[in-house]
Amino acid sequence: MTGADRFDLPEADAFTRAYWDATAQGRLLVRRCGACGLAHHPPREFCPHCWSEDVTWEPASGRAALYTWSVVHRNDLPPFSARTPYVAAVVELAEGPRMMTEVVGAGTSALWAGMDLEVAFRAVGERGKRGEYMVPVFRPRPVSGGGRARGVVQ
Ligand SMILES: [Zn+2]
Repeated sequence: MTGADRFDLPEADAFTRAYWDATAQGRLLVRRCGACGLAHHPPREFCPHCWSEDVTWEPASGRAALYTWSVVHRNDLPPFSARTPYVAAVVELAEGPRMMTEVVGAGTSALWAGMDLEVAFRAVGERGKRGEYMVPVFRPRPVSGGGRARGVVQ
């Protein structure tokens, strides 16, 4: 499968390159405004809350709460067609912004609004080649609160 016939590949540009470089290292970044103090996502070059351009990258904790979700049983666009059913979700990052993502590693009947999640990263694109991206997804956070390191999911 080439990049031309799949629909899950992000497109990095000069501005979002820092974001994708960080996800490749297993780190999630958000943008925070120096003027109003609020974080936002997806990354913008100005603050969507107060329009200040005093905005910088900041490492996110990787923790989030499940805000809402939908179980997708059919999607004709590759590679989603091979992945159904999957959980398309909006999560609220600990830093505040809400983010469109996917929840993995949980049965759909085990999901509840507000459940504690942690980031993981899924490789998409051609492995080991230019054009491979690590896309943030979220999975249930262990109740014990520790032990499992952030990792890569398939
Ligand atoms: Zn602001």
